Amino acid sequence: MIPVKAYAAQSPTTPLTPFNFERRDLRSHDVLVDILYSGVCHSDLHQARDEWGGSIYPMVPGHEIVGKVIKTGSEVKNFNEGDTAGVGVMVDSCRVCKPCTNYMEQYCAEGMTGTYNGYERDKVTIAQGGYSTQIVCDERWVYQVSDKLDMAGVAPLLCAGITTYSPLKFANIKPGDKVAVAGLGGLGHMAVKFAVAMGAEVTMLSTSSSKEKDARKLGAHHFVISTDDEAMKKHESYFNVVLDAVSGNHDYEKYLKLLGVQGKMLVVGLPAEDPKVNPFELIKNRRCIIGSMIGGTKETQEMLDFCAEKNIVADVEVIAMQYINEAYERMLKNDVKYRFVIDMASLK
Ligand code: NAP
Ligand code: ZN
Ligand code: ZN
Repeated sequence: MIPVKAYAAQSPTTPLTPFNFERRDLRSHDVLVDILYSGVCHSDLHQARDEWGGSIYPMVPGHEIVGKVIKTGSEVKNFNEGDTAGVGVMVDSCRVCKPCTNYMEQYCAEGMTGTYNGYERDKVTIAQGGYSTQIVCDERWVYQVSDKLDMAGVAPLLCAGITTYSPLKFANIKPGDKVAVAGLGGLGHMAVKFAVAMGAEVTMLSTSSSKEKDARKLGAHHFVISTDDEAMKKHESYFNVVLDAVSGNHDYEKYLKLLGVQGKMLVVGLPAEDPKVNPFELIKNRRCIIGSMIGGTKETQEMLDFCAEKNIVADVEVIAMQYINEAYERMLKNDVKYRFVIDMASLK
C-alpha cells in the first residue's frame, strides 16, 4: 500500500483537518500521480458539508488534479514516468454499458465512480480525492497535460473546464451565437473563456458588480447585474444559450426569460434546493433546459488539447492546504478570483 498525506472532512459540521491514509498498490493498468496542484470546486464544499445528502466520511475532497506520473503499472500504454498528467471527477465506471463504450462514462448505467465521496468498484474502499499528496488511478481516467501550460492554472480544467466545455460543445456554439453565463465563479469564468474562444458574443450575468472589470478581461463583451430587474428585462428573449453555473439557490425563471426562440438553458450549477420552473416560461419560445455532468474521458482529453492549442487556463489564487477552511468561507461569499488551487507542496 502507498501511504499519503491529505486533508479530510470528518463530518458535515467540522472543518477539514489533516488525515493520513493508504492508496492501493498499482494494478497493471494503474498510474501513480504525485499531485502538484489540486483545484477547489464548489462541489467539494457542497459534499464536505453534506448539502446534497448521502456524504461518506472521512472525505478527502478534490477532483481537479494535476501532477507528475511517478510510476506505471505493467500494462500501462499511454503514460511514462515524468509525464504531466491530470485526473478529474471520475476514476472508474462499469466500462461495458452503452455510455461507457461511447466514452461518456459520466453517464455510466451503473453510475460512474467519483474521485471521492463514493465507493470504488469493489463497493468497500472509499474513493479519496485530490487534497492529498498522491493518487492511484486507472490510465483511462488519467489525461495527458501539455507542459506549455501553467500547471496551477491547468488543475481547474479537470472539472470547471470540462463541465463548461462539454455543454457548450453539445449546444454547438458557433461564431455570432449570443451566449450568457450566469455566475462568475470557477465554472463561470471558464465558460466565458470557452464561449469567447468558440466565437460567441458573451454576456456575463453576475450578482457582483465588482466583477465587471474582470469579466471583460476574461473576454466577456457585456456585463449585466442579474439582480437589476430593468437590465434583465432589456435582455428578454435575446440569447441563444444561457449557461447556469450558479452554486446558490436561485430562480431559474429569471434566466429562462432571457432565451429567444429554441434557446437552451445549460444547467451545470447544483444548488441544494430544487428550483421552481413556470411551464409558461418554458413553452414561450420553445425554450429548453438541458443538464450536463462534467464530460467523458475522450472529451476531457479533447478539452485539454483545445486549451493547449488556444493557451487557455484558469485564473487562480494559489493557496496552502492549511488555508482550505478559509477558502471555503470565501467561496460562500463569492470571493474567489476565480479558482482556489492548493499547492500540494504545502503538505509534503
Ligand atoms: P463558485 O466558484 O463558488 O461560483 C459560483 C458563483 O455563482 C458565485 O461566484 C456567484 O457568482 C454565483 N452565485 C452564488 N450564489 C448565487 C445565488 N444565490 N444567486 C445567483 N448567483 C449566485 O462555484 P463553482 O465551483 O463554479 O461551481 C458552481 C456550481 O456548479 C456548484 O453548484 C457546483 O457544485 C456545480 N458543479 C457542477 C458540475 C456538473 O458536472 N454539472 C461540476 C462541477 C461543479 P457572481 O458573484 O458572479 O454572482
Ligand atoms: Zn467540480
Ligand atoms: Zn458503464
